[in-house]
Amino acid sequence: MILPVKIRVKQVSKEELFEAHRKEEVLTYCQRCSNYEKNHSCPDFDFDAVRYLEPYEHATVILTEIETQPIQSIINQLDALNFQSRVFNNYMKEESDEKIDMSDIVSMHAFEDIKNQMSDQLLLLEDQIDQSIGLPPGSCTRCAVCLKQEGLACRFPEMLRYSLEALGFLVSEIYKAHFDMELGWAKGELPKQFCTCSVLMTKEKSDETLILGILEGMVLRINEEVI
Ligand code: SF4
Repeated sequence: MILPVKIRVKQVSKEELFEAHRKEEVLTYCQRCSNYEKNHSCPDFDFDAVRYLEPYEHATVILTEIETQPIQSIINQLDALNFQSRVFNNYMKEESDEKIDMSDIVSMHAFEDIKNQMSDQLLLLEDQIDQSIGLPPGSCTRCAVCLKQEGLACRFPEMLRYSLEALGFLVSEIYKAHFDMELGWAKGELPKQFCTCSVLMTKEKSDETLILGILEGMVLRINEEVI
């Protein structure tokens, strides 16, 4: 099954983006995550968002949305073993079969797949737009195990980027303020849509048409060989 990814972009000033900055609150969420201090893209850092984003003035917020209704209609035919996402491996492989809910597995697969695609697309955008940097949706999973866990430097420092959450932004506030969206999520159920939020920071105002042109055509593939 191939599902189209709908992309929306909205350009805001850096000041408007920082209205969703809740460094202390978001850090408490990060501290509850198993990636905390174990991934070079995750806190704790020896810098903060103000310093990291100092060279930039504008933020193009990029929202991805995927309707999940088509997945709902085939969810009983899916097999957990066909979803080998890094998130699944990190968080679910120790769980017994009866504890693993297919909706959660598909949601994790979708998030990781879109995160990986968007991370690469943001690097492409950085190549096209002078003085820009991408903030992808989530932690880096380029290596099977982040080298930070072995006390080593990042293997791909030129591709290492930080998510909005890692920099202390409350992403739910960004959805609400700029897209009038409140995300609902219930364990064991597919949400109506899979959504991710990324940002491309730029020094000058960017061309939204150029950004949409580079991002268009993204799809999510679900277990094609089984369906
Ligand atoms: S590229 Fe590898 S070492 Fe660097 S942050 Fe990502 S997972 Fe960690």
